[in-house]
Amino acid sequence: MKKIRLAEMEAKTLIQKSNIPSIDYVINPYTGCMLACAYCYASFMGRLVAEPVKEWGNYVYVKKNAIALAEKELNKMSESKRQGTILISSVTDPYQHPEKKYQITRGILKLLADMQYPGTIKILTKSSLVTRDIDLLTTLPKPDVGMTVTTTEDEISRWLEVRAPAASQRLETLEELSLAGIKPFAFVGPLLPHFATSPEKLDKLFGRLADAGVQEVYMEHINLKRYICERMTPVLSTKSAAVQQAYVKARTQEHRDRLDEIVGQLLIKHGLKLRFEEVVYHDKFKK
Ligand code: SF4
Repeated sequence: MKKIRLAEMEAKTLIQKSNIPSIDYVINPYTGCMLACAYCYASFMGRLVAEPVKEWGNYVYVKKNAIALAEKELNKMSESKRQGTILISSVTDPYQHPEKKYQITRGILKLLADMQYPGTIKILTKSSLVTRDIDLLTTLPKPDVGMTVTTTEDEISRWLEVRAPAASQRLETLEELSLAGIKPFAFVGPLLPHFATSPEKLDKLFGRLADAGVQEVYMEHINLKRYICERMTPVLSTKSAAVQQAYVKARTQEHRDRLDEIVGQLLIKHGLKLRFEEVVYHDKFKK
């Protein structure tokens, strides 16, 4: 595995308008993400810092002035715009390792908590570091905190989500958030191909999520666009022919239909609510 390159930068702006359904604005305190998930769709962001797709996961640019920018931009927002939902983050993990030192996400949350930002503040991470900020998250008027969990098997999370905390640790974090009075959601995306042939594994994942206090899940079918495969294919080539074949099949409508059916049954079994009322498939919207 390559050494991570960490650099500091001055960003021009921070709070960006979003075209993600149900999200008005996004805040990405970092450019790049050292968690290096093989399936990451955000690798295109490298173009902002002249980094090629294949380098995604090997660099992080820290937006050193992010807290100052957040303060300036939040102060300029009208009352009606402040009703908007802000997602932290859409193309990076706001609690990846440099956050321990730089505390940029924490600084932004502190601003939002101090001003009692009236809209929803949605957090999405794979990192247990989010529990450090429970004090701020519980003082926000509308917090919505979620962890991405794609499997219960640490071995799978290790090869697919290279530097992210293991799946078991994320399930523990969800429990910790629940115990702190935050009702966390889970993002089960991408929905891994093997669930189509081993539904008992998704059954187990839903069971563990429900046990951890999760009531709502977002789900996405796997997105295998060409630029994503640029990083995914070399990782898959180290796996068995059966695993590789499962990812080929995952491109088909038949596969997605089968998973939709399994998901529908298991949501009912575990009393989980599916946000957007469907397993989202991004290829439907974009080329
Ligand atoms: S944590 Fe999210 S942004 Fe970071 S590499 Fe993984 S999928 Fe991409």
